[in-house]
Amino acid sequence: MRIGIIGTGVAGSVLAEMLADAPGLAIEAFDRLQEDAAAEAGTGLNVGPNALKALRLALPMRHAAVRAASLPWRRWFIDAAWGERLFDLDLLDVAEEPGIRLRWSELYRALRAPVAAFTRRGLALEALEEDPAGRLAPVLRDTEGALHRPGGFDLLVAGDGRYSRLRALTAGVPAPRFHGIALTRLLVPDAADCPYDDYGQWFNGRARLLSYRLPGGGAYIAGSVPLPAPEAEVPEAVKSAAHQAALYLPRDRVACPAVAWMVDRIRRQIADLHWARLQDSPLLRGACDGRVLFLGDAAHAMVPTLGQGATQAIEDGIVAGLVLRRGGGVTEIGALRDARVEFVRAFSLEASDTMLPGGDPVEGSRAKTGADFLGKLRRLYTDIPGL
Ligand SMILES: Cc1cc2nc3c(=O)[nH]c(=O)nc-3n(C[C@H](O)[C@H](O)[C@H](O)COP(=O)(O)OP(=O)(O)OC[C@H]3O[C@@H](n4cnc5c(N)ncnc54)[C@H](O)[C@@H]3O)c2cc1C
Repeated sequence: MRIGIIGTGVAGSVLAEMLADAPGLAIEAFDRLQEDAAAEAGTGLNVGPNALKALRLALPMRHAAVRAASLPWRRWFIDAAWGERLFDLDLLDVAEEPGIRLRWSELYRALRAPVAAFTRRGLALEALEEDPAGRLAPVLRDTEGALHRPGGFDLLVAGDGRYSRLRALTAGVPAPRFHGIALTRLLVPDAADCPYDDYGQWFNGRARLLSYRLPGGGAYIAGSVPLPAPEAEVPEAVKSAAHQAALYLPRDRVACPAVAWMVDRIRRQIADLHWARLQDSPLLRGACDGRVLFLGDAAHAMVPTLGQGATQAIEDGIVAGLVLRRGGGVTEIGALRDARVEFVRAFSLEASDTMLPGGDPVEGSRAKTGADFLGKLRRLYTDIPGL
């Protein structure tokens, strides 16, 4: 069976490694990025303990590699901008091992290394044809504009992310759902004087900062900015240093040292802020009568509130790999993954309550210490069907 993987980000790389030595399967992978191109190279990512559990059980060498490239994510606290503690969790109370925090480029490096030998880089999927046997045959364009036709595949896997070309070609472009929140990302290269280490969140009204230190001495700062309406674009005025500072500094109290430090860094590096909007899109697992499989963001882009985008992409790649190795297909993968993904998507949105219109950041954060939220976190971090 010939399997073609379009996109070696998180899900595509994990699946490719899972299938690399499977008897009877021939794997080829394609990615539009050249070897040395590193998208989002600087910014940080926290990956949940559930992805680490999946890697530990299915790909122990990859587990070791991502642990070596990262710092442990062991703690999650939520403070008000003036320093009042609202929530403080040791992840080991609800998980079997810590998560990780690392740079996106380091995660990609660790996941891509074992599949480099059978990945063709600098080739972007453009169109689909059928070969004489009725198999799907991708048409890819290289960086010089030339077209490549690597032949027909029994199964094509979309690991090409949120704006998946394979999903667009076979099932249409999914309609994104926006939630009225803008997101900023910033890498602080030198965070030697940063007054915290592990994963924290700080609320000033519904505006929220999230930050943690990264390997190599840097820190990652993410901001959540309420927008006037769910579909609203980000107003230019919100992007100024003065507006950013006013968003996160409490008006009638003294900011805690962590918030003061982050606001100072945002002011200094205002030109480096990367902007996006909180969004998700409907789940779709397959197309073309089981000849196309969607994984990761191509199947289910989700809101990043619980750090589950790349985390679920890892789960997807591992469970899909286990199923394909034993001769199963898209239906069986969907049966194991889709209810799990819907739970994670719903819980991620539920956990965003404190940032959404009408949300109460103080009471909403305190409520996360309750049995209901912690029980769902335990399910999130430990219960992976199909492992
Ligand atoms: C602001 C923000 C913060 C986030 N924070 C977190 C977090 O803290 N933790 C977390 O777990 N997740 C987080 N995520 C989500 C996470 O980044 C994604 O969910 C994850 O990268 C999805 O993995 P993937 O393998 O599906 O796709 P990607 O990692 O996006 O990989 C897609 C791959 O496909 C390739 N490709 C694209 N188009 C083509 C084409 N036409 N032909 C060939 N190749 C192609 C790309 O080059 C890339 O290598 C965040 C996302 C955002 C936007």
